[in-house]
Amino acid sequence: MQTNLYATNSWQEEFRDAIKTSQELSSFLQTPIPAQPYKVFIPRSFASKIKDAGFDSPLWRQFVPSIDENKTTGLHDPIGDMVNAKENGIIHRYNNRILFNPTIICPINCRYCFRKNELEQQHDFLKANLEKLSEYLEDNPQVEEVILTGGDPLILSNLKIEKIIELITKTPSVKFLRFHSRTPIILPSRLDQGLFEVLNKFINRFDAITIAIHVNHSSELSDEFIENIQKFRKFNLVSQSVLLKDVNDCPSSLVRLFKSLNKIGIRPYYLHHPDKAMGAMHFHLSEKKGADIYTSLRADLPGWMIPHYVVDSPLGSGKSLVV
Ligand SMILES: *Cc1c(COP(=O)(O)O)cnc(C)c1O
Ligand code: SF4
Repeated sequence: MQTNLYATNSWQEEFRDAIKTSQELSSFLQTPIPAQPYKVFIPRSFASKIKDAGFDSPLWRQFVPSIDENKTTGLHDPIGDMVNAKENGIIHRYNNRILFNPTIICPINCRYCFRKNELEQQHDFLKANLEKLSEYLEDNPQVEEVILTGGDPLILSNLKIEKIIELITKTPSVKFLRFHSRTPIILPSRLDQGLFEVLNKFINRFDAITIAIHVNHSSELSDEFIENIQKFRKFNLVSQSVLLKDVNDCPSSLVRLFKSLNKIGIRPYYLHHPDKAMGAMHFHLSEKKGADIYTSLRADLPGWMIPHYVVDSPLGSGKSLVV
């Protein structure tokens, strides 16, 4: 079994050894992969899970290329990143918190990604400059939280992450640190002792260190992830999910996901309405359909287990509640 073969390797080796072409993916999954304009990238251990889950499963739909990615409807920058982008990897939309993109690399290529066109073209606004981040924080003392996103910040080495956090701690007005990451789901061995120690070193420096884990379906919660995340429970663990057509767009799927997350110490935080990204329109559904699904969650979940259902404006004005 592929899974066992890779289980003993470190996450960085798994990352380097990932499937990187349609041909490789085709022979791994033993099925033709349609031609489409976006990159292919799937670590082999995760590709085994996709294969086991089978054709058209929620895992397959999220990560295996589709012919529908050739459609040219939808937007290049569906959430108006360009409106709020400062240079050097900084996006400043809300007064007291900024996004910083330290990398444009991801542990996998999600076919539904809202930033897929920008990441594919390696847009300048996503390019990080650590020195400039320092200057920006000094010049903007109203910023209390730095949110590391990307790309995926946890694809960076522990050493690099430590360096970034050290730099952020130099500005006393920053009180909160947050990571938005899909890596713990895709490469659960990323949740290693080294990462724990780096974060733990700064636990008293911040009022909260938050890890927002991007997860869309309960079948993504592997035993390895469930085991490894336990060590991180002293941090503020929250989830963000995207509502995706034919992946998780039914109440029972979301109820299962949110209950499973809660059980392992992760509080459901955001359910994102899918953005109208070009090449990802086959995952889109109407706000009316989304609102019906979301409203029905209340019958099966206590209020505190229900995330905020939000949609981002293509004009860059930020998130608003759908219902
Ligand atoms: C979502 C988002 C944030 C974080 O918002 P929270 O409500 O604090 O989770 C910050 N900046 C931008 C540009 C965002 O899109
Ligand atoms: S990990 Fe996030 S940024 Fe990267 S491809 Fe997936 S959705 Fe996009």
